[in-house]
Amino acid sequence: MTSHVEQAPVRAYSYQRFSSPSQANGDSLARQTALARAYAEQHGLRLDDELTYRDLGVSGFRGKNAAHGELACFLEAVRTGQIPEGSFLLIESLDRLSRDNILRAQAILTNLVVSGINVVSLADNRLYSEESLSEDPLGLIYALIVFIRANEESAIKSMRARQAWTRKREAVQSKVLSTNLPDWLTFENGRIVPVPERAELLRRIFSDAERGQPPQLIAEALNMGNVPRWRIDGPWERTTIAALINNRRVTGALPLHEFVYKRNVQHRLPIGVVAGYFPRIIEPETFLRVWSICSNRRRGGSAAKRNVFANLLRCADCGADIRHKPIGEEGKGVLVCAGASIAHRCSAPEYSYAALESAMLARLGPWSAEGILWIRNADPRGCRNSRGAPYRLLGNEALSWHHDRLSSDLAKRFPERSGEAPSLADYLVTSSGRRYLVNDCSTLLTSAETGLTTSRRRADTNAALRRMFNDGIVDLRTGRCTLSCGAAGSVEIS
Ligand SMILES: [Zn+2]
Repeated sequence: MTSHVEQAPVRAYSYQRFSSPSQANGDSLARQTALARAYAEQHGLRLDDELTYRDLGVSGFRGKNAAHGELACFLEAVRTGQIPEGSFLLIESLDRLSRDNILRAQAILTNLVVSGINVVSLADNRLYSEESLSEDPLGLIYALIVFIRANEESAIKSMRARQAWTRKREAVQSKVLSTNLPDWLTFENGRIVPVPERAELLRRIFSDAERGQPPQLIAEALNMGNVPRWRIDGPWERTTIAALINNRRVTGALPLHEFVYKRNVQHRLPIGVVAGYFPRIIEPETFLRVWSICSNRRRGGSAAKRNVFANLLRCADCGADIRHKPIGEEGKGVLVCAGASIAHRCSAPEYSYAALESAMLARLGPWSAEGILWIRNADPRGCRNSRGAPYRLLGNEALSWHHDRLSSDLAKRFPERSGEAPSLADYLVTSSGRRYLVNDCSTLLTSAETGLTTSRRRADTNAALRRMFNDGIVDLRTGRCTLSCGAAGSVEIS
């Protein structure tokens, strides 16, 4: 209810109301509101019910808030005059300001006080104002001690939470903590047991991944063998395999999380792992090895629209990622070593992007044509994908240009194989388990013929490069580049 009074009473704001990210803790909220009401009445203040955290958020304070904490947001409102000087900020206790950063909490309190806000901690009935602190500077020391203790307390609390989990785990050997079981496990007489054929499949997936098979190929192989997918009816997908490979539960571990609010944003923080909670299917060492193999296989993303080498190349000097720095129109710019441009710990120079791109196309175009010819010679009808559909091959026009030259090249390079088509199996599946993809050869060959004229074409070519090659090293001083496809070999570009 709004009423006009001749002389407006001094306003007070309850910080709990102000900052509460959720209404989850109703008791605490009610208690703090009651404390604030009592204080306001006692001191003839008007407790402001209008200004809520949401109001400030709508007024565009949220960004500031996220950057500096809840009270910085309040402070901003003071600065802009939304909250008048001389107002009271009522908080249950100073430790509400911040539990994780003593310096920041202290700075916020100081800023508030200097800005003319009277900060009251209700629990111990202490007032922090410019006046009171000038009279009694030790009050500030007292505040610091509260902050330090609050910080220690939250450290202890978080430790206790972990201990509680451990105790819970120890106490209930057979009891089920979570009813949400991974797909390869099931309940049997109240105990968690593996589904034998699924556990077996999981081991096969990990062993394929450990030999360097990317999730895409593992999925294709499963589909080719008509292995039914778990949970839903449909073909296996790259993402399904990738999710399994990243799931720590295969080692028997149950990862625990807690939800915490930091600057009013909810974070899901890992607080620990209960080892041996589920039956172990994969040894932890294997899991880590596979995980590291797969996390190295990075994704191209939108960077590939401008940079055909996105997430493929590393610096020959320091091993850091090579990034593309766009300058001018598309297809221009320079390649830089991330170690040099970001961390300043590498002395590799910049190298022209356009130069490396055209060198790559000039080298990989014929190389791809060669691959296609070999596969075609081996078995024109045998190149099929996992769904049984034939790979899209280039038309004869494009190939005929290369045919004569390549045929003689091949005869020179492999005289012992002259006139003899290499076996399709030799060529499609290399020793690293990586396939010589006809489609990808076709993409590279087309790009070499027509150039990378659109961002779409560049992204497609990037995807093909990353399927064929699992690593690329470039020397930015010379532009010399080595693309390697596992144990199967490598291609030099210079
Ligand atoms: Zn470098």
